[in-house]
Amino acid sequence: MIEFERVSKRFGSWTAVDGVSFTVAEGEFRVLIGPSGSGKSTVLRMVNRLIPADEGAIRIDGEDIASLKPEELRRRMGYVIQSVGLFPHWTVERNIGTVPALLGWPKARIRDRVAELLELLNLDPRRYRSAYPHQLSGGQQQRVGVARALAAEPRILLMDEPFSALDPITRASLQAELSAIHRRTGTTVVFVTHDMDEALRLGDSIAVMDHGRLIQCATPLEILTRP
Ligand code: ADP
Ligand code: ADP
Repeated sequence: MIEFERVSKRFGSWTAVDGVSFTVAEGEFRVLIGPSGSGKSTVLRMVNRLIPADEGAIRIDGEDIASLKPEELRRRMGYVIQSVGLFPHWTVERNIGTVPALLGWPKARIRDRVAELLELLNLDPRRYRSAYPHQLSGGQQQRVGVARALAAEPRILLMDEPFSALDPITRASLQAELSAIHRRTGTTVVFVTHDMDEALRLGDSIAVMDHGRLIQCATPLEILTRP
């Protein structure tokens, strides 16, 4: 479903991503792990074309992403980052409904979808749909961030250290919710973290990056049982 073929990215003379190749299968939960600065975020941002690749090919369902229209990228992919980035002057409902509204969904369908997502993420819709971001805790804001990314039913969810800023207990419950959503919807996930515990807990497979290169790809079991 997602294919990287010898993809490289330079910032000036600095090579941030160096000849990276991998594929992510439909429905797979793929973790990208590695130290800070190893190129994980840059890989993720090339998947949704926030950053163009300098070399190599990136394909989604066999199509070169360079040929996809922006609204087509938005429809297929949801994106969650650490600093949630909700619009402070918009309600939870409007924040979550942004992409469906851009895609022209009718109002009633958006309203139903928002309620469904809030339930899915353990936020009572009656209490929170009209709330503003500053009225929510960090964990609740990140739940809204995940709901927003899932709103238009993307087939791919890209997550860049989404839970790193949360306390350990909130973080564990969001990890469990994300696993449940992944199992239930079959959404393909690419999840960036530098935390091996998180990677082992969430990933079907774990790709290890170092200095812009992908140095290993293994299942959690293989990582835990390697001599
Ligand atoms: P984080 O990964 O903590 O969310 P970013 O993704 O914004 O932070 O940045 C990741 C790395 O890329 C950091 O080391 C940051 O310094 C570097 N970086 C991001 N944008 C730029 C830029 N425009 N110029 C130089 N370095 C940058
Ligand atoms: P990671 O997500 O693994 O922390 P990044 O992909 O954010 O790593 O960054 C990889 C390298 O590329 C880092 O050295 C970072 O400083 C650099 N980098 C990332 N984005 C930019 C940018 N926009 N301009 C210049 N350098 C960048």
